[in-house]
Amino acid sequence: MNEHDFLIVGGGLAGSLLALALLERGWRVALVDQPRPASASRVAAGLLTPIGGRRLTRAGPLEELLPAAIGTYRRVEERTRRALLREVDTLRLCRGPEEAGHYRRRRADPDFRPYLGGPLAGSEEEPEAYPVHGGGVLDTETFLEAAAEIVGDRGTLRRGVVDPEDVMVGPAGAAWGELRADRVVFCEGYRVRENPWFHWLPLTPVKGEVVGGRLPGGLPERPVNRKVTLVPRGDQAFLLGSTFDRHQVDEIPTHAGREELLAHLPALLGERPEVEVTEHRAGIRPAPADHHPLLGCHPREPRACVLNGLGARGALIGPYYAERLAEHLVDGAPLPPKADIARFRERA
Ligand SMILES: Cc1cc2nc3c(=O)[nH]c(=O)nc-3n(C[C@H](O)[C@H](O)[C@H](O)COP(=O)(O)OP(=O)(O)OC[C@H]3O[C@@H](n4cnc5c(N)ncnc54)[C@H](O)[C@@H]3O)c2cc1C
Repeated sequence: MNEHDFLIVGGGLAGSLLALALLERGWRVALVDQPRPASASRVAAGLLTPIGGRRLTRAGPLEELLPAAIGTYRRVEERTRRALLREVDTLRLCRGPEEAGHYRRRRADPDFRPYLGGPLAGSEEEPEAYPVHGGGVLDTETFLEAAAEIVGDRGTLRRGVVDPEDVMVGPAGAAWGELRADRVVFCEGYRVRENPWFHWLPLTPVKGEVVGGRLPGGLPERPVNRKVTLVPRGDQAFLLGSTFDRHQVDEIPTHAGREELLAHLPALLGERPEVEVTEHRAGIRPAPADHHPLLGCHPREPRACVLNGLGARGALIGPYYAERLAEHLVDGAPLPPKADIARFRERA
C-alpha cells in the first residue's frame, strides 16, 4: 500500500484547495510546491467578483461557486486563526452608454439581479455607480500560508521543484523520489505546458501586473472598479490591478504596466492623487481556451490527473472545482461536463 493516496504537484490556489478538499474527506495527501513570489496565486488581487467584465457576465454557477468559496475560506480561517476573506461589495463606476445598456438588461434578469444593486449615482436608465453584491477579497498569500500549515499538520508538505518527467506513474501508483501515492494530480498553473501527460490542454498564458501603494489622505472602504480595480487594504494601503497581456508573457513587471494601472487612479478616485508605490508585481494566469476550468484524469492513464485553467478567477471558482475533482477522485462522482478535460480528449 502507498503511504499517500494523492501526490499533488504545485501549491498555488489550485493545488492548495485540492489538498484541503481531499484532507477534509479523510485522504492522505502529499503536496510539493516551489513557492515562487511571481506565481499567479501570490500576485493575484484576490477579488471574488460574481459579475464582471465589459459585458457584466456571470462568473459561472454563482449559487454553487460562492458558498463553496466562502465556506472553504471561513473553515481555513477558523482552523488557522488568520483573517483571509473580507466579504464586501465592489463599487462599479459605469464606463458609458454600452455598459449602461448591459446594466439595464442584467438588472431585469433574475439570474443577475441578486448580484447587481440599484444605482448609487445616476439612474436605472443612466447609472453612474452601482454595487456588485455577493463577493469579496481574499488575501491569497495568507491563504496559501494557512493552507500549507494545514497540509504540513495533517499530510506531507515539501518545498521544491518536481520535474514531471521524474514522476513515475504505473499500475502501483505514482512515485516521485521517496514519495509514493496511489495517484498524482498536477496543479502547476501555466507551467502545465511542459507536463508530459497534460501539455495538450488548450491553455493560454496571460500576463497580469498589479501595483501596490499607499495613498495618504484616505481610500474608499470597498473595492472600486472601472476597467481595473482599486482594492483598499487598510492603513492607507491599496492594490491596483490588473493588466492583461497575451503577447509579452513573462513574470517581469514593466514600466508600461505600472503607468497603465496608475493612469486609472483619477477615474477611480475622482482626483489625481499623490501615491507612493510600494510594490509592483507580475504573474501569469493559466487561461483556458474556452473559459472553463480543466479538471479530470488522463484518458489513458487514470492515475495522472489535473486541476488547472482557473484563469482570472481562481479565488472565486477554485474551491468549487477543487471539491468537484476531489469527489470525482474519491467516489467517481461525475465532473461538471463543461470543466471535464474529457472535452479535449482527442488532443491527448
Ligand atoms: C495579476 C493577476 C491578478 C489576478 N487577480 C485575481 C483576482 O483578483 N481574483 C481571482 O480570483 N484571480 C485572480 N488572478 C488569477 C489567479 O491568480 C489564478 O486563477 C490562480 O492563481 C491560478 O492558480 P494555480 O494554482 O492554477 O496556478 P499558480 O498560481 O501558477 O500556482 C502554481 C504553483 O505550482 C508551482 N509549480 C508549478 N510547477 C511546479 C513543479 N514542477 N514543481 C513544484 N511546484 C510547481 C508554482 O511554483 C506555483 O506555486 C490574478 C492573476 C494575476 C496574474
